Amino acid sequence: MDLTFSEQETAFRDELRGWLAENQPDPKPTEGGEDAVYRWRQDWQRRLYDAGWAAPAWPVEYGGRGARPSESAIYFEELGRARVPMAANVLGLLLGGPTLMMWGTPEQKERFLAPILSGEEIWCQGFSEPDAGSDLAALKTRAVRHGDEWLVSGQKVWTSAAQHSKWCMLVARTDTEAPKHKGLTYFLLDMEQDAVQVRPLRQITGEAEFNELFIEDARIPQENVVGDVGNGWNVALTTLMNERAGLGFALQIRLRQLLDDLIETAGDRGLLEDRLIADELAELHVRCESIRLMAWKGLTHAERYGQPGPEGSLVKWLWSETNQRVTQLAADIIGPEALSSGTSWSYELLRARGNTIEGGTTEVLKNIVAERVLGLPRLKAAA
Ligand SMILES: Cc1cc2nc3c(=O)[nH]c(=O)nc-3n(C[C@H](O)[C@H](O)[C@H](O)COP(=O)(O)OP(=O)(O)OC[C@H]3O[C@@H](n4cnc5c(N)ncnc54)[C@H](O)[C@@H]3O)c2cc1C
Repeated sequence: MDLTFSEQETAFRDELRGWLAENQPDPKPTEGGEDAVYRWRQDWQRRLYDAGWAAPAWPVEYGGRGARPSESAIYFEELGRARVPMAANVLGLLLGGPTLMMWGTPEQKERFLAPILSGEEIWCQGFSEPDAGSDLAALKTRAVRHGDEWLVSGQKVWTSAAQHSKWCMLVARTDTEAPKHKGLTYFLLDMEQDAVQVRPLRQITGEAEFNELFIEDARIPQENVVGDVGNGWNVALTTLMNERAGLGFALQIRLRQLLDDLIETAGDRGLLEDRLIADELAELHVRCESIRLMAWKGLTHAERYGQPGPEGSLVKWLWSETNQRVTQLAADIIGPEALSSGTSWSYELLRARGNTIEGGTTEVLKNIVAERVLGLPRLKAAA
């Protein structure tokens, strides 16, 4: 991949940079709790949307700019540089929208894509269950067809942003006789019904980013099946590939910023002369750079094949471990202050614990990298 910008890419970057210079988000609210912060992110998404910057990678016909993957990378890098908040509907923009573009009917695209883009309707991802996380195909949430609609019952867990969501990308079992990967169907569940109970789960950071969902006879019309009955596994894979590639790209930029902040803090404390700290910072810098280049390389796959490839798993794995190391080093550099509740470093340190679990655990990602990137024998074949 050629990393020098073409004229078109430079023009794209300059236009966005210009817009960001003139359009800063309001200051993050200090009162009103998590809901106020969420509304602030929603408001920011709306401003991006009004200016045509909510999802440049989306095709023009769906309200995007038809940006090429390299321009999309520039987009995330510039947002990172400007240190603006992440759009509220991040799961809709990066996961739900692209999944619908690939598998949705024309009616579904017409109905759902625009409110995802504007942030008017927030989306969440209802995949994981208490006994089905890494082994997603073991899920038990059941959907039974009654005429033109489905009745769904079961339990989901870890559902990020469900408390703010209108729609849930829900994978449920529709055939108990078929092999487990084949009996699944991908639905769009309307969260605004009594049959769906959302219970926030408070994390170690103090915030309730994710939730449990208790679903009892929730109704989903047949028209909200995405990609055919029994094809849920393939549709879910599209969502997961987009999750690892799309989020991975945005997160490695955030990692770079965090490391830059840490280098500055270490400098302010005269610690860049400390060999142990300087060594660790240098190694983290090298890791950050290699993750950045790998993320760019992943774009080549997306550009060539139209879909993100399994390399996204490599980026996600290395990002999560490096992010944990950066926050741990921050605690060593800053000392007790980094551990006091309410500081930004304590938040980063505690939040990083989940990085090696969310979006695929490190062990599972290593399996994917071994089998699908390196072409090593599958575990079963080896046994
Ligand atoms: C912050 C956060 C946000 C999340 N948001 C969402 C969300 O919005 N929607 C959603 O559906 N889910 C979400 N998740 C759930 C996440 O995807 C799951 O936690 C993850 O898939 C792991 O599943 P599990 O917790 O059931 O662990 P398990 O799958 O039970 O794994 C337990 C342990 O066994 C290991 N293991 C499992 N299988 C293998 C294997 N084949 N080889 C080697 N080791 C293995 C795992 O690595 C892990 O260490 C979120 C999680 C976090 C932490």
